[in-house]
Amino acid sequence: MGWSVSYDENWKRDIGYGVPSICDHPDCNEEIDRGLGYVCGGEPYGGDQGCGLFFCGKHLSYYKKSSQLCDQCGNGRSPFPKKPDTEEWIHHKTTDPSWEQWRQEQKEAIAS
Ligand SMILES: [Zn+2]
Ligand SMILES: [Zn+2]
Repeated sequence: MGWSVSYDENWKRDIGYGVPSICDHPDCNEEIDRGLGYVCGGEPYGGDQGCGLFFCGKHLSYYKKSSQLCDQCGNGRSPFPKKPDTEEWIHHKTTDPSWEQWRQEQKEAIAS
């Protein structure tokens, strides 16, 4: 499975460059996606140093020459709360044929 769309068990949300999103910084509404270019930590799920949230270029910095980190991780603070999925993404998941299997699984999970 590629990195286009994946699932983050830690933050309980879809990730990957196929997922539209907005910057997780509380004061920012920049439109990004959940690809590696925007992840705090520079690796899937944030690697060893990042929180795995997603930020625009303004809110990711290089701290101590390590990977790209958000302000919270760069300063040793606990991560920001995550933001909810965009309306665009929720609409895609509930209507797009590529999510048919997922929708069936949701129904079964509710029914069981
Ligand atoms: Zn972080
Ligand atoms: Zn931002």
